[in-house]
Amino acid sequence: KVVCVTGAGGFIASWIVKLLLERGYTVRGTLRDPGWMRQARAALPMETLNVFRYWVSADPKKTEHLHALDGSAERLQLFKADLLEEGSFDAIVEGCECVFHTASPFYNNPKDPQVELIDPAVKGTLNVLGSCKKASSVKRVILTSSMAAVVFTEKPLSADVMVDETSYSIPELCEKAKEWYVLSKTLAEQAAWKFSKDNGIDLVTINPAMVIGPLLQPTLNTSAQIVLYLISGSPVYLNYSFGWVNVKDVALAHVLAFETPSANGRYGMVDKVIHFSEVVKIIKDMYPSLTVPEKCADDEPFAPTYQVSRERITSLGVEFTPFETSLRETIECLKEKGFVSF
Ligand code: NDP
Repeated sequence: KVVCVTGAGGFIASWIVKLLLERGYTVRGTLRDPGWMRQARAALPMETLNVFRYWVSADPKKTEHLHALDGSAERLQLFKADLLEEGSFDAIVEGCECVFHTASPFYNNPKDPQVELIDPAVKGTLNVLGSCKKASSVKRVILTSSMAAVVFTEKPLSADVMVDETSYSIPELCEKAKEWYVLSKTLAEQAAWKFSKDNGIDLVTINPAMVIGPLLQPTLNTSAQIVLYLISGSPVYLNYSFGWVNVKDVALAHVLAFETPSANGRYGMVDKVIHFSEVVKIIKDMYPSLTVPEKCADDEPFAPTYQVSRERITSLGVEFTPFETSLRETIECLKEKGFVSF
């Protein structure tokens, strides 16, 4: 079976590609253009550029870890595709049974939220779905959404509140709070549901919280960066409560959402919602020699925790790696890759 993974070199996507290859799939992975390609595009006529369309990224940092995966030589093909170039995914998606759309920018403090986060998330998702609509082979699309698109509502959160997939983040609230990444994921998921319903696409979303675990890629992604922050000598921890989940469980959920014919709708994925004050205690117990932040960055009451229903996701057959194991795997990997030494 042939499937497509967009943003194939990313943290979560690399694990999805790995798992798909292990399960015997032929994988078409997309990567965005490196700079030289954009320059060439401006300088050369379109007919010439179509010849380049299927070239693998020139940047080995983005692809080496994919080429190292078992089965990649035989069954992994890499393509260039740009989220914001209409039709860019058409030829890649044609012939695929499933498209796993993971590509979307994930970082904080953008200079221009619309251009940097919201446009690639929303227009990019619609662009990929537009290609899926044209391709008769595509049976299902799995979108990597986020708990960010679930929990940002007016409902007060506390340790006894159970959040489930019926909850949708409210764009106006995200905007007011300047939570631009949260807004980008919320708008992208909303747009995806509308487009899919209007165009008869079988869409399933996976909505993970903060994803950690071992990195396959050589670069540091945002969620791993948060763990790195906690073990890099900062004196304060942030006043946040995040949900956390292991990347291997998230990858499996994506694949099972395709392989399970009855899968549908949204699947929230949170092993545990925990405040940073508790996370630093766990790290201190695991690694007594490490300096971890000792006080909260502000004097506000601690951000509340909450519970997230596991009912839907466990019905797919996904089990959760305990948070402590995920945290240890992340720290060990950050150490192994030289992001931190202790
Ligand atoms: P990464 O930063 O590792 O991966 C993001 C991917 O998106 C990369 O492949 C990147 O390509 C691609 N991308 C980003 N911006 C653009 C753009 N403008 N045009 C084309 N491609 C782009 O992050 P993650 O693996 O963590 O995130 C993957 C997905 O999972 C995202 O949709 C994210 O929102 C979602 N998610 C992540 C969570 C987490 O905690 N990590 C939690 C919940 C959801 P390139 O390599 O070229 O930069």
